[in-house]
Amino acid sequence: MNNNNAEVIRGLVRPILTMVFGIAFILGVFARLIEPIWLAYLTVGIFVFWFGDRAFKNLGFMLKGQLPVTTPEVTETSQPQPAITQPAPTEETNPVELVPELDLASFHEAVFKDVGPRYTEVNPCTIFYEARDKGVVTKVGHISQAIDYWNYLVGLAGEAFHYIWGYSLDEAIQHAGEPGCPTCTTCAAGTDIDSKARRAGMAYYAILLDLRRTLEKQQDLYQLAQSGIDWKAKLAPQQQTLYSLGGLAEEILRTSR
Ligand SMILES: [Zn+2]
Repeated sequence: MNNNNAEVIRGLVRPILTMVFGIAFILGVFARLIEPIWLAYLTVGIFVFWFGDRAFKNLGFMLKGQLPVTTPEVTETSQPQPAITQPAPTEETNPVELVPELDLASFHEAVFKDVGPRYTEVNPCTIFYEARDKGVVTKVGHISQAIDYWNYLVGLAGEAFHYIWGYSLDEAIQHAGEPGCPTCTTCAAGTDIDSKARRAGMAYYAILLDLRRTLEKQQDLYQLAQSGIDWKAKLAPQQQTLYSLGGLAEEILRTSR
């Protein structure tokens, strides 16, 4: 109510003042108190009086537009502050989320316990195969568990290779051109590790392929972990295992591009 009354009075001020000055001027001219040239001054005065504030307001907007430094300062300082404070709580909750660790010690214990009954012979090759078999049926909840498992499996594959060849993979590549090897001495020299493996025998070639495949899948899994792809959405429940996540990582990456 008070605001409305004030608005009405404010609206009446200028018309009343205009009329008062207009009548006073006309009376002044008739009474010969004012020279007619003052009519020009009065006209300018009335224009300023009626439209001056609007003109100043417009001039203010134009100046703001010409000096962009002042306006962005206001928007930049006022807008990004809530933008920073809003995502911060969600980012802070992520590191707190606990990643269940893979208990490799008890996993390896189970591998060691079951390898004898399953494969009749216990050696680095059958231990590697049993660890692979167990990985195929062990559920994976977080990709870091699969990475732990595949690092472990690469270690076992390397030991199995050394058991057959008497060399590490690097040493076997270096000695591929020589006849014989630490484990048999009768095999022929090869032009490269693949031809050497074929000449040394089936066991040599099989474990070479197994080690290579295991190393490749490990790298695929690292890539998948870095990509941040929702791998669970890409795999059927029976595929969500320690071994299969690494085994299918390349396919998940390929189909997600
Ligand atoms: Zn040999």
